[in-house]
Amino acid sequence: MKITDSILGKYARLIVRTGANVQPGQVVQLTISVEQHAFAAMLMEECYKVGAKKVNVDWTFDTQSRLNYLYAEQEVLAKVLPWEEGKMKQMVEDLPCRIFIVSEDPDAMAGVDPQKLSSVMQSRATVLKPYRNAIEGKHQWVIAAYPSVKWAMKCFPEAADAEDAVEQLWNAILKTVRVNEENDPVADWKAHTDFIEEKAAWLNAQGFSSLRYKSANGTDFTVDLIPGARWEGAGTVNSVNGAFYIPNMPTEEIFTSPIAGKCEGTLVAVKPLSWNSQIIDGFSITFENGKAVSCRAEKGQALLEQMIHMDEGASMLGEVALVPKESPVNQCGFLFYETLFDENACCHCAVGMGFKEVLPGGDDLTMEQAKEQGINDSIIHVDFMVGADDLSIDGVRPDGTLVPVFREGTWA
Ligand code: ZN
Repeated sequence: MKITDSILGKYARLIVRTGANVQPGQVVQLTISVEQHAFAAMLMEECYKVGAKKVNVDWTFDTQSRLNYLYAEQEVLAKVLPWEEGKMKQMVEDLPCRIFIVSEDPDAMAGVDPQKLSSVMQSRATVLKPYRNAIEGKHQWVIAAYPSVKWAMKCFPEAADAEDAVEQLWNAILKTVRVNEENDPVADWKAHTDFIEEKAAWLNAQGFSSLRYKSANGTDFTVDLIPGARWEGAGTVNSVNGAFYIPNMPTEEIFTSPIAGKCEGTLVAVKPLSWNSQIIDGFSITFENGKAVSCRAEKGQALLEQMIHMDEGASMLGEVALVPKESPVNQCGFLFYETLFDENACCHCAVGMGFKEVLPGGDDLTMEQAKEQGINDSIIHVDFMVGADDLSIDGVRPDGTLVPVFREGTWA
């Protein structure tokens, strides 16, 4: 498919209207790479067309981050400057609708000391976390993608040239976000989100107390669920203004947060994981009493260990998500090196921060209150894929009855 202005326009409208669902009078905070300035202009215009009060743009630039990490001192990078904190304070006040366009080169941080990267991330996240908590559930946000040359070349190293690689990545992205020349993406998204909501409603009606995972690759795992916590998918509602928005485009998953510290067994990853721009591959994590006690990786062992030791919550689960193997992301058949896509390929779990909004009235709970009810807390949230083609998952009802949820990698 040729990437015309009309296709791009359709995509921009979908992001602003269906994804972020920008409301009249809202401030919009757009985060996008300087390389995608033309698309940024399209998005800004769409936001104003639906009545945005003001669109602020946070420009990102891979090379800037890379050079800073290579040359600046760790202490300098770790410091959150007063103006940065001021900006977060303003955000708590404005509760802007946030649009993030990802296009990073997956190798942007190659060669950067991973210890430096994670220490900087850790210190900054600790300072910024109270602000993040203060806006959680109270603003709309959406993450969508736009291919950059370097990202596309990483996904398609065999492509004839850069242009060809970008076109291939565009086609894959547009397939996963259901945009093509003929269709009405808004209508297609309605049908898609309806299907996801129907499955989520079924799961909620079952009231499972735990899930059991089994696969021939060695996955043998049980996780306990929080009584009354909801399965959610596709979209969610801003508790302040009631606007329905879709945080991820694409999205295929139905997820919940399990009880932090209540799981047992081994999860074997079926796809490589790109974390802090580096690859962890061929890995498994073993849990005892709810905590990751050991891990093994063919590639990135040190990185994986670092990840699960970022803080106390980094060794516990914050999310379990169900995605059938028929997902268009999975059908694309390649690794996107980007969680937004890769986590929508198949079933996954995440170590780190859980989602307090899955609890009844969760948006109004403080993180401390959410933790008391079993939600995990951490400065990280990292998804890894466990959805083998033969994966079976059983739901366990409180009375012990087993109900098939997944068979052969898809809905039973
Ligand atoms: Zn997920």
